[in-house]
Amino acid sequence: MVLIYESDPLDDENARGKFYHVCRGRIEPAPLAVPQDDRPYECGQCGIDLETEDFLMALQKGSV
Ligand SMILES: [Zn+2]
Repeated sequence: MVLIYESDPLDDENARGKFYHVCRGRIEPAPLAVPQDDRPYECGQCGIDLETEDFLMALQKGSV
């Protein structure tokens, strides 16, 4: 598991939820924005590339 989507219905400003990268088994505290223009998010710690489609999968499944 490398990406988690969490929705918080109590948070009006972020009603769409947030994405979090799971880095080497630990959830990074800073939420990620969905990558734009086919430029994946690259993690400097574990070296993974998270592409837009990964975020969409997490949005549907809750995690990928
Ligand atoms: Zn990482």
